This record gives sequence, C-alpha cells and structure tokens, in this order.
Amino acid sequence: MYFVYENWTHDRARIHRAECGFCNDGKGTQSADSGRNGKWHGPYEERDLAFRVAKNLRRLDTKSCGTCSP
Ligand SMILES: [Zn+2]
Repeated sequence: MYFVYENWTHDRARIHRAECGFCNDGKGTQSADSGRNGKWHGPYEERDLAFRVAKNLRRLDTKSCGTCSP
C-alpha cells in the first residue's frame, strides 16, 4: 500500500510506503502530524496511482520519500 502526504505549509507532497516510519499506515508521526499542516491521502494499492495523485496535488515540491523510496 502507498500513501501520499500533502503539506500545504511547505507546499510539498511525498509518496510513502504504508510501512514507512514517517507514514505509519497513513497515521504519520505524532510530533509531525497534528493535522494542521497537511493531510494523508490513501491508501492506494498501486504505486502508479499514488504518484498520479501526488502529481495532481500540484505542490511545488513533489517526490517520493527518501527513507522508504517507494
Ligand atoms: Zn516514507
């Protein structure tokens, strides 16, 4: 499964694997994810779909997570 984290404060989108420590099945990390700065999209079964969703968010900085590299 894949998730996309959208952060509108930093105009950023990141694609993660569900098992990634930053993703935590779409729940994120407690410290970073208060819900005020962004939101999780997903889960998506297909990697391609997750990338398409991320692209469609049209954030300035859109890429895959450097830690889990989906
Ligand atoms: Zn990740």
